[in-house]
Amino acid sequence: MAIEHTWHDILWREWHHTQDEDYAEQIYFALTKDNISQPDPTDVVQGRPLLPEVEAALRQGLRHGEALRKFWGRRIRLLDKAKTDYLSISRSTKDLNHVHWFRRFVARHILFEIGGHAVEALEEVAYGSNGFTAEEARWALYCIAADTTARLSAAPESWMCPDCWVGCGPLWIDRPWRRDWQFYGCRTCRRSHQLLHRTEAMVAVLDNKAKGFTVKDGVIRAQWFTRRTLFDFDRVEILRATDEEVERFAVQVGNDTDAVRRPRYPTIHCTIAPECQLSTNTLRILQNSFGHVEQIPL
Ligand SMILES: [Zn+2]
Repeated sequence: MAIEHTWHDILWREWHHTQDEDYAEQIYFALTKDNISQPDPTDVVQGRPLLPEVEAALRQGLRHGEALRKFWGRRIRLLDKAKTDYLSISRSTKDLNHVHWFRRFVARHILFEIGGHAVEALEEVAYGSNGFTAEEARWALYCIAADTTARLSAAPESWMCPDCWVGCGPLWIDRPWRRDWQFYGCRTCRRSHQLLHRTEAMVAVLDNKAKGFTVKDGVIRAQWFTRRTLFDFDRVEILRATDEEVERFAVQVGNDTDAVRRPRYPTIHCTIAPECQLSTNTLRILQNSFGHVEQIPL
């Protein structure tokens, strides 16, 4: 059902389930002032809504309720501002236990916003000695798992990390004495937000006069010379490179131990621009590295 119809139910469910009494009071106060009645007490209360659902419900509530606007309008603006500022994992994990409920509220939502990058810090708090903070950290972890699974699990490899140029994959949230939770993020750094979406190929380009990457029509073209390290790709284009440079790239491919990339190499096409003259030895190395190597004729 659309959020226009469910926002008050979501907020009542959050009020019902949260362990944070001050925060529960704030939700209760705003909803009752706006005469938004509680669900029938005989109804079965569904589970706690996810952090992004609560945020969406609060934003929707601002359009409908005067008290919600009055009490929550500024707070949501502050949350938005906090999201555009530097997102500090250590400050936010510390703030889960802040003396003021609003700082605790912002911390939960910021940690969810950071997503995969915050998992390690949250894992530490989630099984620490402070019961209240641990509960909140476990909830943020659960929300990250649910959100990334919903967004990324259908085709994780089509979501690329703009830092590592590596696709997403299944990762794990450690729960020492229970079954681990699965979430999705960059296979190298665990990033799960602001990813690049490729619907077509990821091309490794070797052009010693170019750096960076471009995204056009679903194709990402990433310049190996930017960092001279490996990343995910399904095609290689050698435009301008010396024998030595190409050999260095091929050696990296030969030594690659990444379980996702390794099986792909025998099927990868590598094209060489007509003006890029490589030695027979370099061509042989490329043929040993990739499934198909072709020099485009002049
Ligand atoms: Zn990454």
